[in-house]
Amino acid sequence: MSQQRIAVIGAGVVGLAVARELALQNAEVTLFEREAIGAGTSSRTYAWVNSNGKQPASYHQLNVLSMALHHELQASQPQGLRWLECCGTVEWASPGIELQRLQQRVEKLQQQGYGVETLSREALIARLPDLRHSELPQTVWHFPEEGLIYPALFMAKLWSDARRHGAHLHIQSEVTAIEDHGQGVALHLADGTVWHGDQLVIAAGRWSPQLTAMLGVELAMIDANKPNKIACSFLATTAPLAVQLSANVISPQLNIRPDGGGRLLLQANDLDDQADPQQPTTCDGIIAQQFLSRLQTLLVNSERAQLEKVVIGQRSRPADGLPGVGYLNGHQRVYVVVTHSGITLAPLLGRLAASEILHGRAEPLLTDFRLPRLLNKSAADFPAFSTVHFPAAQ
Ligand SMILES: Cc1cc2nc3c(=O)[nH]c(=O)nc-3n(C[C@H](O)[C@H](O)[C@H](O)COP(=O)(O)OP(=O)(O)OC[C@H]3O[C@@H](n4cnc5c(N)ncnc54)[C@H](O)[C@@H]3O)c2cc1C
Repeated sequence: MSQQRIAVIGAGVVGLAVARELALQNAEVTLFEREAIGAGTSSRTYAWVNSNGKQPASYHQLNVLSMALHHELQASQPQGLRWLECCGTVEWASPGIELQRLQQRVEKLQQQGYGVETLSREALIARLPDLRHSELPQTVWHFPEEGLIYPALFMAKLWSDARRHGAHLHIQSEVTAIEDHGQGVALHLADGTVWHGDQLVIAAGRWSPQLTAMLGVELAMIDANKPNKIACSFLATTAPLAVQLSANVISPQLNIRPDGGGRLLLQANDLDDQADPQQPTTCDGIIAQQFLSRLQTLLVNSERAQLEKVVIGQRSRPADGLPGVGYLNGHQRVYVVVTHSGITLAPLLGRLAASEILHGRAEPLLTDFRLPRLLNKSAADFPAFSTVHFPAAQ
């Protein structure tokens, strides 16, 4: 069989993971990226690798399998770059309804065979000695199989593998028009050039609806350019701090994760109704002060913490919260991969997409995530989310 010429639009985690798998399987891959690697959501993310409360069961399964691939990929490179921290998560909740919800979630996860155990206060303190003891409840939950990604390093790994297998990357290369003529596809680029090939993968995150619109198809995704706590979330990064934190911490006040070199990444979902992507946030504004005061309550040695940046992450979220994967139409020339939780799901979606594109297999794991449910509809056609803000609804 002759080598297939395949273009991928978007160099975030999803596009890079698809490009890598295609290149590993000997396709001729060309990646088009409007700005640079990681210019979109993949660099403004909490990047927690988990399947902690993801529903329905088929979505949970997808996330669990992809978690395993993350561990496998990191283990395949025992020396050198480490993009995955296999550090686990500890979580607790405020007494009352939040605690009940967490207990119910844990019960369900245990039934599904997901790794979770309780930790006593003493065991937690032994594990994370810099948490302020006065803030800790008697029992917390520990999810040992979960991890954290350093997105820039993960993307470096994905692209490095793709490049070494012959993939080409065009940065600052915006796709402005697409032709799908049944026998192949043509991409028109902002510099006036045209790419011709056999297949196209749209992996443009929250911009994917603009690309499918070039083919006359509406794709229902939540508009992350408008203030909307489902789509937008503050993320604050501290300057390096002399604090020991070797796990992902999900607490009622604050989510805190190590972010390399002593930096911490902070998120507080209850603040997100104030997140407006049209209003940039500053390191000395009210939101920043909230982050710092909550951090001081939770961690010792953080009194003089400073923030290096506060940004708003804009989610790439199909309108029903589940991935949308597969061919856009019967020509089977244009394939789309859009998803939320893309950090967790990139390794598996990359692999499944490559299998479908190169071998014509319909992957059973993708059955519940096909595109037609999202096509030629708008986000308004879907019911509003009710569970968006439990912590792992990342
Ligand atoms: C606040 C927040 C917290 C999150 N936390 C988690 C978490 O804990 N765990 C988890 O698994 N996921 C999490 N996510 C989700 C995850 O980060 C995203 O699902 C993932 O990064 C999406 O990757 P992507 O490659 O699809 O999109 P992107 O990273 O946005 O990449 C799309 C790329 O396409 C390019 N592009 C767009 N249009 C064009 C064009 N016309 N021509 C060429 N290029 C184009 C863009 O420049 C961009 O680089 C979080 C997201 C947010 C916002």
